[in-house]
Amino acid sequence: MTDGSVTIYKFWSATDELLYVGITSRGLQRWQEHMATKPWWEEVHHATVEHVVGRRQALERERQLIRQFRPRYNVVHNTAPVAQYVKLLDYRCAICGEFGRAEEMFIELPRAEVDRHDAEMKEWEERYPPPTSSWSPVPWERLANMPRPASWRTVHNECDPDPEGHSGYYIDGRNAATHEDLLYWTAHLMEKRWFAGTDWDVFISAQVYQDGGRP
Ligand SMILES: [Zn+2]
Repeated sequence: MTDGSVTIYKFWSATDELLYVGITSRGLQRWQEHMATKPWWEEVHHATVEHVVGRRQALERERQLIRQFRPRYNVVHNTAPVAQYVKLLDYRCAICGEFGRAEEMFIELPRAEVDRHDAEMKEWEERYPPPTSSWSPVPWERLANMPRPASWRTVHNECDPDPEGHSGYYIDGRNAATHEDLLYWTAHLMEKRWFAGTDWDVFISAQVYQDGGRP
């Protein structure tokens, strides 16, 4: 993420109560789609924006506004001191495509994904043998045809196509609702033999750069 212009959004009720303050440095449309899934979205009457240069400055400004106005639907800086910097995570469901609260979802690495990746890696190693010495150039084909990593996914408990059938690695979303939780899981998963062949890095990056809090 670049440190360019960041937009601060203020959502107001019809009676000009500040309901929610959030920031985003990505496209307005995507962010609004995300916000429109919030249960309080119907109460939003109008929005105003401020542009701030620098993400750090934007975060400071957001915090200041929240402390000053105490918007009803901000929890990030609006609650008890202990919870002040805890952001609760939302995940996008791989089945229905909607965002949901982490606590109502699970994270999984399906067994079929691990098996697919193992099989493709085996074939890849045979087809594109590694260079014979560390000085030899790596053939372009070897890099270009590297198998896609085994993919983690997030699913609503309610959307789970087969609640009894989890055969891969499963994390209850109630234990993965904050960045701190994800840090714990990252440390834990790094001990696993198969971990490097998965796209966990992509998954957690998406959580780091996900903008906005939630009620
Ligand atoms: Zn779903």
